[in-house]
Amino acid sequence: MSKLISLVAPFYNEAGNVAEFFRRVAALAATLPQYRFEVIAVNDGSRDSTLAELEQACQRYPGVHVVDLSRNFGKEAALTAGLDRASGAAVVPIDSDLQHPPELVAEMLTQWEKGAEVVLARRSDRDTDSALQRLSANFFYRLQNRISNVHVPPDVGDFRLMDQAVVTALRQLPENHRFMKGLFAWVGFRTVTINYQPSPRVAGVSSFNFWKLWNFALEGITSFSTAPLRIWTYVGLVTSVCAILYASAIVIKTLLHGVDVPGYASLMVGAMFLGGIQLIGIGVLGEYVGRIYHEVKRRPVYLVRAEYRSGEPAAE
Ligand code: UDP
Ligand code: MG
Repeated sequence: MSKLISLVAPFYNEAGNVAEFFRRVAALAATLPQYRFEVIAVNDGSRDSTLAELEQACQRYPGVHVVDLSRNFGKEAALTAGLDRASGAAVVPIDSDLQHPPELVAEMLTQWEKGAEVVLARRSDRDTDSALQRLSANFFYRLQNRISNVHVPPDVGDFRLMDQAVVTALRQLPENHRFMKGLFAWVGFRTVTINYQPSPRVAGVSSFNFWKLWNFALEGITSFSTAPLRIWTYVGLVTSVCAILYASAIVIKTLLHGVDVPGYASLMVGAMFLGGIQLIGIGVLGEYVGRIYHEVKRRPVYLVRAEYRSGEPAAE
């Protein structure tokens, strides 16, 4: 029996890419007859004709498993839905806009056969990104890796091959906030990195704008580090020490030169500075409390409207 390889692809408004995606995957499968391939296509609440296109692909190609989510849950949730259903001996999350060349899976499989449990695909350049994106990505990785104890490798996205054992480990992580890059890094396992050149999107536009990426970065940092919480203890300590020094200075000055009535400006500055610092501290606390609130509700990460596979009658 040949080994089954699962490709997990999230689709959000990718109607223009579905046909080409499946064509490229079928071509890849044809070059690797020693494996069987399945594609878990997760429709993440697309508002265009992606689902109809997926249904067509499902009829046309073998081994397609369409998972239709009840609304847009976001890429991380869509990936989770796909990983939960992937039964292959190796599993590859892959973007459906063809920015992750399916042909690279052949090289990943070679490394996997040599004993790697995780094969990371590292983007050898970020030419398809804007200068601002590159700068902020760089800053994010530096900060993330400095203040958290899992190492998230830079320039590595969700595109990677994972052994079934790694996927089983991932399924054991119970959190609702699924920062996949961090979770992938957290589980560990024997890892090999290969390089690839990301391609431009085939059709459609990216759904990640600056604000979404900012929130994504916050998610990453708060999911894997409590340093932003702890820093306030030190800020508080330093401020208190400064206040004590300043108080002593005032006492000495008063003893030497008598009472000095003007002082309105310095009072205002001190009060405003401390007020600001306290609000920032409370804000950071709020970030974490909010996340705890979301986690304790234990809502499911995603909801499925319908599921069907090639070879089964279409669900009605
Ligand atoms: N995606 C998704 N749900 C979303 C946003 C994106 O499933 O809410 C999918 C999208 O279809 C694509 C992948 O995630 O396959 C990457 O998205 P995109 O290309 O927009 O991001 P970028 O490549 O610009 O980071
Ligand atoms: Mg993309």
